[in-house]
Amino acid sequence: KARIFRFGNKTADGGKNMKNLLGGKGANLAEMSRIGIPVPPGFTITTEVCTEYHQIGKEALIDLLRPDVEEGVRYIEDIMGRKYGDNENPLLLSVRSGARKSMPGMMDTVLNLGLNDEVVTGLVKKTNNERFVWDSYRRFVQMYGSVVLGMKPHTKEDVDSFEEVMDDLKEKRNIKLDIEFSVQDLKDLVREFKEIVKKRTGQSIPSDPWEQLWDATMAVFDSWNGNRAVYYRKIHGYPSDWGTAVNVQAMVFGNMGDNSATGVCFTRDAGSGENVFNGEYLMNAQGEDVVAGVRTPQQITKLGSQRWAELAKVDEKQRLEKYPSLEELLPSLYAELDEYQKKIENHYRDMQDMEFTIQEGRLWILQTRDGKRTGTAMIKIAVDLLKEGLIDQKEAIMRIEPMKLDELLHPVFDPAALEKAHIIAQGLPASPGAATGQIVFFADEADKFKNSILVRIETSPEDLEGMNIARGILTARGGMTSHAAVVARGMGKCCVSGAGALNINYKRRNMTVGDKEYHEGDWISLNGSTGNIIEGKVATVEPELSGELAEILELSDNFSTMEVRTNADTPKDAVAARNFGALGIGLTRTEHMFFGQDRIRAMREMILAESRNGRKRALQELLPMQREDFEGIFEAMQGLPVTIRLLDPPLHEFVPHELAQQKELAKDMHISVKAVKNKVDELKEFNPMLGHRGCRLGNTYPEITEMQTRAIIEAALNLKARGIEVKPEIMVPLVGTLKEFILQEQIIRRVADKVFSERNESIEYLVGTMIEIPRAALTADAIAIHAEFFSFGTNDLTQMAFGYSRDDIGKFLPVYYEKGILTTDPFETLDQEGVGQLVKTGIEKGRSTNPKLKIGICGEHGGEPSSIEFFYRVGMDYVSCSPFRVPIARVASAQAAI
Ligand code: ADP
Ligand code: MG
Ligand code: MG
Repeated sequence: KARIFRFGNKTADGGKNMKNLLGGKGANLAEMSRIGIPVPPGFTITTEVCTEYHQIGKEALIDLLRPDVEEGVRYIEDIMGRKYGDNENPLLLSVRSGARKSMPGMMDTVLNLGLNDEVVTGLVKKTNNERFVWDSYRRFVQMYGSVVLGMKPHTKEDVDSFEEVMDDLKEKRNIKLDIEFSVQDLKDLVREFKEIVKKRTGQSIPSDPWEQLWDATMAVFDSWNGNRAVYYRKIHGYPSDWGTAVNVQAMVFGNMGDNSATGVCFTRDAGSGENVFNGEYLMNAQGEDVVAGVRTPQQITKLGSQRWAELAKVDEKQRLEKYPSLEELLPSLYAELDEYQKKIENHYRDMQDMEFTIQEGRLWILQTRDGKRTGTAMIKIAVDLLKEGLIDQKEAIMRIEPMKLDELLHPVFDPAALEKAHIIAQGLPASPGAATGQIVFFADEADKFKNSILVRIETSPEDLEGMNIARGILTARGGMTSHAAVVARGMGKCCVSGAGALNINYKRRNMTVGDKEYHEGDWISLNGSTGNIIEGKVATVEPELSGELAEILELSDNFSTMEVRTNADTPKDAVAARNFGALGIGLTRTEHMFFGQDRIRAMREMILAESRNGRKRALQELLPMQREDFEGIFEAMQGLPVTIRLLDPPLHEFVPHELAQQKELAKDMHISVKAVKNKVDELKEFNPMLGHRGCRLGNTYPEITEMQTRAIIEAALNLKARGIEVKPEIMVPLVGTLKEFILQEQIIRRVADKVFSERNESIEYLVGTMIEIPRAALTADAIAIHAEFFSFGTNDLTQMAFGYSRDDIGKFLPVYYEKGILTTDPFETLDQEGVGQLVKTGIEKGRSTNPKLKIGICGEHGGEPSSIEFFYRVGMDYVSCSPFRVPIARVASAQAAI
């Protein structure tokens, strides 16, 4: 079995379909090489070797791998005409991580391997460029110390890191940028860095290039199990047995002088999706500098540069002098880059995120991958690629990550409020969105406030968890391709980067802008679409759906066979869901309707009533209110089907538990406080979720079912009189035995007939049941003879199938994740293996006796893509979910059918 795969010189052993084995980076380096893109030669050590390493350990693995790696290095040496470890004509290497799915910055990479004091001398002779050599050596010591020897710069444990030493030196020399260091400065830095490494790790950097290579390779394998990578895998649900590949590659140098540069580019705009090539570069720099935000980079295209200058308030003359685009500065290299980006995007048929380096006028491409993008960009790019004929309709739909649509439905700043807002400063619009929160300066303190804004000079991969928690991210340094910007777009989180006017002081936990000071805990707002940083809170409004989203949703409906309905209890929710394209209501919970001011009183009187007559009197009061609610919802749905569930929760949820309220109620009802108290105590249950609730209420107090049925039917008839045809579906909750259902059905039909004859008018309606008790799923064939529809209540079904209380699972779920007992929360993602079997059985049995049975689901799972796919496979007619999940479910339903 092959352990290494070579690439370079327009050929390769591997290709883009080998991501599992070569990792995304390795597979794409091979693919680019094949299609004639200039990539520095190298080889990929497979992900399987990573697994081997974790099994057999370092020494055994090196023995196993040595012949292959030596051969691989020879392959690179031959192409480059240099030799690794040679003093006269040295080759330098990079060792780069790369898992099958891109995890930007989550694992480690070491550059400039092969340097030591002797090689440095030789390289100076060979290149005649002392600055370049010592700059590379400085970077090497820094990176090797951090990555291989395990220092942790940029974190709170290690604030006086290399950066601080450099900052001090800059201050001493009165310079701003690292390119302004003299050769002597760089030599001093190398010496000082070596000392820091020694002091902090107790180890020295090995001078043997081969030892460096092996140790760096193992460090990359180790980084697969590093905190950052583990956390990233957790939030993305990637399994830990994938492993990372290691790419060993010839170094090319962007830090050789004024004819050298490095950069990152996107074939389309990752924020808006607009089809414009864009990106950033730094002259005389090495790759990490752009992403890490060491200097604020310049724009690649003229258009981008002009847009940037407008935001940064830089005039045209100054722009051309100080911040020219690559297009203007090095036109022929730009033209070549433009040609490659087109070729690569056409080849991959998706937006690409690429890295490149220019070494003394020669362009090299170092990486390409499908670019991370915002929800807005995801939609726009899919629609555009479809129109451009690069992908077909099915593929356009499959390109949508349904859960990412959520971003498009979040509130945006109210334009009126924005007009009055006080703008503190302006940064780059790195990731769109609206965020308001309290300032925190450290990622691990992002949870200090309910809504926080993480404010950093720049972010690093260590900050991932805090970035995920924060509402928005603000950095003082770094451009549109900085770590903060890329990660924020991937998370769909609002981010403003490179706000140079901010002066951030971590030690004092404040930031100053001009003479104004902001402290930890102060409220600020970020507008990720304009780059504005605003003082205080700004009001928000609901967003409007974009034309492209509407196109994708319509396209989806052409392919899906399963309808999407919504769970809605109020006309407002119903209208929202209809606007999102819901084709009916799958669940209206009637109990929410009893919580209003007068209603709760009437409800309590009903519950506390001693006699059937007392109850009836109270219900009589509730009837018109319920009827009115139903009319509102029916009207909002304009003839679409509406499923109404009869009263479900335990009655004790409605009664007052505090003395003051009990007294008030006693006064209202002209009974003693003691009587009220007694009744409340009487209603207390040991296990309310398994207690007196659902159809058990309707069966003990039939008058409740009678009232609710009357309210539904009368409301429907009232609407019919106004020309709106509604078809209510009356749903009995928590049925476990056939008889429980039949008794309720009889009441419903009897009351409906009575109302019809009173009004001398009728409508069509259905009577069905929820399937949420395991016994009901197992006896569904009997129930289906009587029920006209089933709606799977997967929340209760999960609760009862696992025996996990929905309200208590939080106590043990974290431990269960840790021990691998559960990998997902079964209340979020349907447990297909167990609960799914009950669903499948229920459907099969139900349809076996009633082929016309209409079947849907109304639990939380109705809006979760992987569960939706399952519901499609088992043959459901519809899923029902909360209004904001409707667009997600529409796309997921189409994807299931494709
Ligand atoms: P990540 O996955 O975190 O982006 P990479 O392996 O891509 O890590 O490398 C980090 C940076 O180092 C990138 O900017 C890349 O372009 C640069 N780099 C990696 N290998 C080389 C190389 N052989 N020559 C020059 N620059 C390199
Ligand atoms: Mg990279
Ligand atoms: Mg239920």
